[in-house]
Amino acid sequence: MRLVSPLLKHVVYPGLSKAGYLRRVARSGPAVLTYHGVLPAGYDIIDSGLDGNLVSAQLFREQLQFLKDHHNIISPEEFRLWCEDGKELPPRSVLLTCDDGLRNVLFDMLAILQEFEMKCLFFVTGASLTHTPTMLWYEELFLMFLAAPESFSLELPEIGLRTDFRRHEQHSQWWASVTTLSRYDMNHRRTLVERIRMQLGLSERWDAEYRDDPVLSRRFLVMNMQELHQLTEAGMCIGAHTISHPMLSQSAPEVAWREISESKHDLDQVLGRETWALAYPFGDSSSVTSREIQMAEQAGFQCAFVNVSRDLGTQTPRFALPRTHITAEMTLAEFDAHISGFHRSLQELFRPAKLSAAVGSIA
Ligand SMILES: [Zn+2]
Repeated sequence: MRLVSPLLKHVVYPGLSKAGYLRRVARSGPAVLTYHGVLPAGYDIIDSGLDGNLVSAQLFREQLQFLKDHHNIISPEEFRLWCEDGKELPPRSVLLTCDDGLRNVLFDMLAILQEFEMKCLFFVTGASLTHTPTMLWYEELFLMFLAAPESFSLELPEIGLRTDFRRHEQHSQWWASVTTLSRYDMNHRRTLVERIRMQLGLSERWDAEYRDDPVLSRRFLVMNMQELHQLTEAGMCIGAHTISHPMLSQSAPEVAWREISESKHDLDQVLGRETWALAYPFGDSSSVTSREIQMAEQAGFQCAFVNVSRDLGTQTPRFALPRTHITAEMTLAEFDAHISGFHRSLQELFRPAKLSAAVGSIA
C-alpha cells in the first residue's frame, strides 16, 4: 500500500475528488476524525514529524469548510446516542475529535470551531486536571534529545536502556525510549525522565523557553484545570485519554488498568458528568491490544477510539472504533478519500493476507 501511496495522493485521489466521485461513495457509519490541535500563529516548525500531527489554522478552516459543504458534522452527543442506542444519523456524518488537550485547542482551535458552529470531542489526560503547566512526557523527551549534544550515551541499566545517541537516528532512538519508559507508572517514569535530563547535562530550567514563550507554550503545554473548564463552558465535550499517556500495551496490567479507570473516575469528579468515551494513547495496533479493549469496557466507558482507520478485528468493535488521523501533510483530496471510506476500502483490498491475520490477532 505504501508503494502506491504517491500515486493515490497525487493522481488518483485528486481526480476522484475533483469529479465528486468520493462524495457519492456510501460509507457505513459516521467518519471520525482525529486532530491534535492547531499550530499557533507565529510558530516555526521544530520537527516535521512531531509537529505534523497539528494542522495550521488555514488548513483547519479549509477542512471545516469542506465538511460544511459536503458532509454533516454531528455533535459528540449525537454520536453517543448512535453508539449506545442505534439512533439514526444523517448521511455522510462526521465526528470531530482532538487528542491530548494542548493549550492551542483553547487559544487557537476553539475560535475556528465556533466560527463554523461545530462541536468537537476533546480527549485529555490527567495532566489537565492539575494547576501545574505540564508537557506531554514523550514530547518533552523529544525536545530534551534535541537540546542535547550531537552525540551522547544514555544509560539506565536497571531498566535495560542504553543508547549511543546519534542525531540522524533521533526519531528511532526516541521512539525506542518512549516504548521502554511506557512500562513504568507515571511517577517512576517521571523519575526516569529526570535522570535522562541530568545525563544529558540539561539544567532544571532547560525548558524555560517552551514554558514561558506565549507561542511555544500554546504548542507544547497542556491545558490546566481552569483552561479545561473554559473549554467545557464553550460547549465542547471531554473524553479520557488516560492519566499520563503511556503506550498502554507496554505497561504492567495494574498500571494500564489504573491509567484507564482512574482517568474516567477523575474526569467524572472534576467535570461533574459521566465521561463516556476513551481514546487510547498513540492508538495504533502496537499500543492497543485486546487487554486494553477489555479494560475500557470494564472501566465503564460507552465506547473507545483507536487512531487508525481500519478496525482491529475485535469482538467488541465499540471499544476499538476507527478514526482517521489528520496530519498537516494531508491534501484536501486525501481528506475527501479518507472521510468517504474510499481510502479504507482500498487498504482492505490491498492488505496482504498475513497482515490481516496479524491485525486480527490483536483482538
Ligand atoms: Zn495522545
